[in-house]
Amino acid sequence: MRVIFIGPPGAGKGTQAEKMVAKYKLAHLSTGDMLRAARDAKTEIGVEAEKYMSSGQLVPDDVIIGVISERLKQPDCAAGCLLDGFPRTTAQAEALDKMLAENASKLDVVLELRVPDEELYKRLSGRGRADDKPEVIKERLVAYNNQTSPLLDYYGKKGLLKTVDGLGTVDDIFIRIEKILDEYAV
Ligand code: ADP
Repeated sequence: MRVIFIGPPGAGKGTQAEKMVAKYKLAHLSTGDMLRAARDAKTEIGVEAEKYMSSGQLVPDDVIIGVISERLKQPDCAAGCLLDGFPRTTAQAEALDKMLAENASKLDVVLELRVPDEELYKRLSGRGRADDKPEVIKERLVAYNNQTSPLLDYYGKKGLLKTVDGLGTVDDIFIRIEKILDEYAV
């Protein structure tokens, strides 16, 4: 099963992603985690990415497309994967379509975790990450609304989009996700 998980910063994607990869035995491809690891290891990509991450902007498409295309070739992705944080722009989505077509594989479903902006501000202000400063939060939400939300339309037109209400307890939300994913699980 190949799943894309889309949602604004603060929607609770990370928490739900952990539960999804455990239950459905999926490789977890979190581009945020990959970039933070690269930054901490001070690799060339990490140093470049940090310039954008620290101000809440998206890293350039070619950088992240390179990272994810290498990752998708790893053997653990063959049985199924959860793409968490990628694609985030239409150019990334088109690049992903190409990569999948080259491998004769396809997406099963695109899950959107939906949470209203006011709630996101509240939640994000209570976290302690370096890019959770109010100005940076604002930039990340702007990036989501301008660059990532067009993907909802992109995948909606392909008939792949399913939206999940992201308000409620962690368990409530996971039950909603299971109702969708159980259909694609082998
Ligand atoms: P969030 O909590 O904002 O969803 P992530 O942990 O997914 O954040 O990503 C953190 C930062 O890493 C983003 O603000 C962005 O700078 C960068 N990033 C992660 N994934 C991508 C991507 N697919 N394209 C561009 N930048 C990305």
